[in-house]
Amino acid sequence: MSYQVRAKFILIFNICWLLVNILCLYGCKDGQLYRETRLLMGTYVEVVSPEKRAIPIAFEEIKKIENLLSKYKEDSEIARLNKYGSLKVSPQTLDVLKIAKNFWLVTDGAFDITVGPLVKLWGFMDRKYHLPEQDEISKALDFVGMDKISINEKENMVKLKNLGMQIDLGGIAKGYAVDSAVKRLRENGIKSCLINAGGDIYCLGDNFGSPWRVAIQHPDREGFLDYLYLKDRAVATSGNYEQYFIKADKRYTHIFNPKTGYPVDLDISSVTVIASDCTTADALATAIFVLGKDKGRKLLEKFPDVEVRIK
Ligand code: ADP
Ligand code: MG
Repeated sequence: MSYQVRAKFILIFNICWLLVNILCLYGCKDGQLYRETRLLMGTYVEVVSPEKRAIPIAFEEIKKIENLLSKYKEDSEIARLNKYGSLKVSPQTLDVLKIAKNFWLVTDGAFDITVGPLVKLWGFMDRKYHLPEQDEISKALDFVGMDKISINEKENMVKLKNLGMQIDLGGIAKGYAVDSAVKRLRENGIKSCLINAGGDIYCLGDNFGSPWRVAIQHPDREGFLDYLYLKDRAVATSGNYEQYFIKADKRYTHIFNPKTGYPVDLDISSVTVIASDCTTADALATAIFVLGKDKGRKLLEKFPDVEVRIK
């Protein structure tokens, strides 16, 4: 009787409520949940709500954010910034860049949206995976570093120090898109909705009086690691079990240590972060994956409201 999504997270509704919902399909209209899945931001995005109108509102906002932030969309602001090296950007793009810069500062550079040249070099952009030589990595690192981006808040201008730098918001954009959609839902008076953007989840309000139940997928095998009961909370996971390649029995993941230029190679396979907003959950999950258990837990002392599960 569980309801599943093909993502890092598998969401299961409280069985009681599922039974209620099934009964309601045959009579009581109040217990019904509407749900829809669309392919956006390179993943499956799912919206679930007792209010049908929540669905187009959430998807419209996520699409809008994708059109601003995706480096794969030629006319997005991020793609144009990467191409031309400077751009006057919209308030939302400026906002996410400023937030990303704060995470770079607070994580001592572990979270760095300028990893684009590394993502490309190792073949994660086009899935033509490649083990680079050290000199290729050193060359790519010349174009990595958030300190090489200047942000002029008054004029909404963003400048990259070198052409060849590539901003990659893969570690934060889905969380930001989810938060933007939640904001739009709240403005429209919607009180209950769950948005799952490929494992970056926000649970707005509750599910007919009970918290939303979210199951965390086990990174190493079928089944669940844990269940979370969430109300007005976000959760995101970073792991090495979805996007990776294997060469000579070694696994290379899509999350990079921006200082060495190598994929993170620690003894953890997933980091789940629960926070009051999805942008924070998304960015911190990526950052803690880079930092590892000890430094990651130390970082969390600066975020008293945040919980983490490391596997
Ligand atoms: P996913 O997007 O697969 O859910 P993450 O949120 O952890 O997982 O984001 C991983 C993506 O973030 C990578 O594919 C890449 O685009 C980008 N990235 C990789 N390393 C870093 C890093 N150190 N800091 C910020 N972003 C990163
Ligand atoms: Mg992330």
